Amino acid sequence: MRTIVLLFTRDLRVHDNPMLASACAVAERVVPLFVVDPAIRASPPRRRFLAESLADLRESLRRLGGDLLVREGAPAEVVAKVAAEAGTRQVALTSDVSAYAKAREKSLRDHGLEVRTFPGVTVVPAGKVLPSTGGDHYKVFTPYWRAWEAAPWRDPSEAPASIRLPDGFTGDDPRKVLGAAKTSPLMPGGEQAAQDRLDDWAPRSADYADLHDALAVDGTSRLSPYLHFGCVSPLALATDPRVPSAFVRQLCWRDFYHQVLAAFPKLATEAYRPNADDDWADDPEALEKWKAGETGVEVVDAGMRQLLAEGWMHNRARMITASYLTKTLGLDWRAGAAWFAERLLDADVANNCGNWQWTAGTGNDSKPYRRFNPVRQQARFDPDGDYVRRWLG
Ligand SMILES: Cc1cc2nc3c(=O)[nH]c(=O)nc-3n(C[C@H](O)[C@H](O)[C@H](O)COP(=O)(O)OP(=O)(O)OC[C@H]3O[C@@H](n4cnc5c(N)ncnc54)[C@H](O)[C@@H]3O)c2cc1C
Repeated sequence: MRTIVLLFTRDLRVHDNPMLASACAVAERVVPLFVVDPAIRASPPRRRFLAESLADLRESLRRLGGDLLVREGAPAEVVAKVAAEAGTRQVALTSDVSAYAKAREKSLRDHGLEVRTFPGVTVVPAGKVLPSTGGDHYKVFTPYWRAWEAAPWRDPSEAPASIRLPDGFTGDDPRKVLGAAKTSPLMPGGEQAAQDRLDDWAPRSADYADLHDALAVDGTSRLSPYLHFGCVSPLALATDPRVPSAFVRQLCWRDFYHQVLAAFPKLATEAYRPNADDDWADDPEALEKWKAGETGVEVVDAGMRQLLAEGWMHNRARMITASYLTKTLGLDWRAGAAWFAERLLDADVANNCGNWQWTAGTGNDSKPYRRFNPVRQQARFDPDGDYVRRWLG
């Protein structure tokens, strides 16, 4: 009898999850497993979001006759142990691009496990479209976007009809394992919550192209944390007939940074453009004021306080606050990226560091010397001061 361990990572969903669908199609028994790696420090809101997402996934798997094991430890060691208990060496995993994800996959193989990987973290897998002029990735967005749109996209996967665990296996309560805090009505985690958010937003998304930069308007999808943890499939979003093309273009930015990270794994630590790193200033006091939203520059402080309160920040505010830190204060983009990584629900290496480097002028921006003047940005994107008033009172 064939048994496969399903190692869930950033794919916490049952719909359009090729890893889950493919394994369930070929194996009589599967062991759905999530491993909480203590090496990854997560802020309480992120643990809360993850715990809710896992609880929702567990419910879905149970409805199909299965369950979800949630264990803590070094992923490869935990997987090897669970696989041995299930009498198998086969592991299915959604492919991911960060240095951490690649090291995890290698470690699984080093533990003697047979690993099969599947797409699902991006619309188009990193490395699937390559520049005709050569090179292992696209460095500029617009040509990537054209190639991305023209590339063949995989067909979405159906959720499995049923799931069977090996005898004697039972699931775990993710909230207990993660010790997570109480739920948040603002952005509850999980596939169902993502679907609810999409169903709420999609019918009013026609104005996205006009409204997505307006700071005070809830004009963007706020799906980024769900995309980060894979509670919603990026492919399902990109092919949803209700969403506008301007939104699909943003999903392409997400894929773009994933293929950059796949080719340049040091994106979190080193300037992407050779020799682009500045002589950054060292001013811990200014950094702390920026983090606390106490710079005295209204729109910057409003953005930073939204981050503290919601674990999310409007994209325009992210650009303004990041530009202020790096180009006005002259502080190192790595310090800003680290603070965002700590506080954002949606933080991931590809999008966070890709965008920080773009803003700091060390990354993929074709105009690396551009600087956002916060006063002019506020006049343009918060003309009535509603956003600033909301966060500064
Ligand atoms: C300094 C800085 C740091 C950022 N850090 C992150 C991060 O850690 N994680 C993250 O997901 N996004 C990050 N972004 C990109 C962007 O700000 C967020 O994706 C967006 O604000 C999320 O809100 P939304 O879901 O309502 O976006 P929407 O406008 O509804 O866009 C839909 C989706 O497209 C993707 N997307 C949109 N804009 C971008 C972009 N510029 N780059 C890559 N993907 C994009 C996101 O997955 C987003 O959920 C950062 C941007 C900046 C300037």
